[in-house]
Amino acid sequence: MLLEIKNLYVKYGNVEALHGININVDKGEIVTILGANGAGKSTTLMAVSGLVKASMGEIIFSGTPLHKISADKIVKLGISQSPEGRRVFGILTVLENLKLGAFTSSDNKKIKKNLDWIFELFPRLKERSEQLAGTLSGGEQQMLAIGRALMANPKILLLDEPSLGLAPILVKAIFETVREINKSGLTVVLVEQNAKAALKLAHRGYVMEVGNIVLEDTAQALLANPDVQNAYLGGT
Ligand code: ATP
Repeated sequence: MLLEIKNLYVKYGNVEALHGININVDKGEIVTILGANGAGKSTTLMAVSGLVKASMGEIIFSGTPLHKISADKIVKLGISQSPEGRRVFGILTVLENLKLGAFTSSDNKKIKKNLDWIFELFPRLKERSEQLAGTLSGGEQQMLAIGRALMANPKILLLDEPSLGLAPILVKAIFETVREINKSGLTVVLVEQNAKAALKLAHRGYVMEVGNIVLEDTAQALLANPDVQNAYLGGT
């Protein structure tokens, strides 16, 4: 098991956002977490990245418990997150943004190799490497956010709503690239509101409702599940 989330509780002040959830991710998988607004999907990813703290429960990565490890060290262990809303640095160029993603490394050869790989995955970023990130389109900013997360050379990539606000054709392109990234050996956890696209891409999925996991199954079984179809797939 690469990542184990065991009985995880997270509180924001007095409000409990996660009520004891369990999620397992095996090496090489794409696991998707589905759910409506406010279900706790982003909170789950942020807890793994160390950006919010667990009030109870455990998160174990490659056998290492994460609860006492700071967010920057968690990145160094091999967990990298592409946050919701992209959060690229608008006044820096595409290349500068990507280089920031490599803060964990001083190995210039490795950095160059990663850059070449990211430019292969996203040729658009190569074309625009000297452009200010703030002037990129939404889809390009999403590519940059994923590319920046990859620069940290992760073992597991956490993607928070990569399709948010993108035209369908771009969603398809981004998801195809995620498939390619996974095929290269990287494990992926994908939080999505676009349930259909996410389930078509993922191996397995979890469904969250108000801070709980209510369903877990293979992606194929979730796609065929009438409850999932009615609640998340527009009844198709
Ligand atoms: P969305 O798709 O809208 O981002 P989500 O499933 O990712 O939803 P979370 O963002 O994890 O859900 O939110 C889970 C719950 O925690 C919600 O009720 C939300 O209002 C609450 N919450 C999230 N962040 C904070 C915060 N910083 N302070 C207080 N409450 C928060």
